[in-house]
Amino acid sequence: MSKLVDALINANLVPLKPYESARRLFSGGQDWLNANESPFANPYEIDDSHFNRYPSCQPSGVINGYARYAGVETSQLIVTRGADEGIELLIRTFCTPGEDRILICPPTYGMYAISAETCDVGIERVPLKPDFNLDVDGICAVDNVNLIFICAPNNPTGTQVKAADVERILEHFEDRALVVMDEAYIEFDMANTWATKFSQYSNLVVLRTLSKAFALAGLRCGFTLANEEIIQALMKVIAPYPIPEPVAQIVTQALSEENVGRMREQVSYLNNERDALRTALGALPGVTLMGDVKANYILFRHPQSSDIMQYLVSEGMLIRDQSKQLNLQHCLRVTVGNAEQNQRLLSLLNTFFQQTGAQS
Ligand SMILES: *Cc1c(COP(=O)(O)O)cnc(C)c1O
Repeated sequence: MSKLVDALINANLVPLKPYESARRLFSGGQDWLNANESPFANPYEIDDSHFNRYPSCQPSGVINGYARYAGVETSQLIVTRGADEGIELLIRTFCTPGEDRILICPPTYGMYAISAETCDVGIERVPLKPDFNLDVDGICAVDNVNLIFICAPNNPTGTQVKAADVERILEHFEDRALVVMDEAYIEFDMANTWATKFSQYSNLVVLRTLSKAFALAGLRCGFTLANEEIIQALMKVIAPYPIPEPVAQIVTQALSEENVGRMREQVSYLNNERDALRTALGALPGVTLMGDVKANYILFRHPQSSDIMQYLVSEGMLIRDQSKQLNLQHCLRVTVGNAEQNQRLLSLLNTFFQQTGAQS
């Protein structure tokens, strides 16, 4: 780093490295089963007649469309540049740098900790239990946290959280902390959404995204759902024009009744593919299936995980190494692709095991 940068950079940023997103790690390859994206690329139309104008901060087509889809009032949501921006907005709005803390339950999604670190907000970690359930006693024993992030279904374990556990946490922290349910994958397990519970819990927040089931990761569009007072606080912090006009147009189309129906069909296709892929993976020599499959990915353990990873990368088949996460040594996560991609993954794995002479 230059002397000037060294002298000026915020002290809390010095130890940090840029996030190793799936895309930054591997930009080549032909099959991308590493970022839990959808294999479907759906068509949309763009009206370029007013790109000379700034967009609306909270475009009404987007807000009305998502409120209808999620069954909440339009005053109960805010649209952001992906759910990732929602995570950061919550931290910037509700945590004072250098003083306050968030609580996370690893192994889980990486961006809660990264956003906290970049904002100089502390992190209290209460690991999931060995069966990947929440350690509710451990969580409730923690004092002085402002936000509790619970990923449900959890990335990367694919497990859902028990409703009774979340209820205990919501009630315990009722006057003390916001409980943020990250529902990035909820379309794959819709019965377990918390978005219907805002009238019961004033400290409940739900994060949603269009990047997974809605097949729009390239758009960068997510939603934070909560009671109006919480949304109004976030509105103080969000940028004046967070959603580009072309994004607003496409999202409005994606949220039409017809296209929500298409999303649901694609989810049911992926759920079928996932169950078949899980069975096939589980039958491979040395593979231990881990967690559950409440989302569009499968976590498995294999003693040769790093050789498997290297071999697949050399064949242009990208999956995600999770072995550095707490309690996930030798674990790999694969996103459910289309039938052709899943078949190719299985045949590559079969070749790998034949070459290495692995026994089941
Ligand atoms: C992918 C993902 C997100 C981020 O979604 P974006 O809308 O693409 O920013 C948030 N939470 C979890 C658990 C995810 O897996």
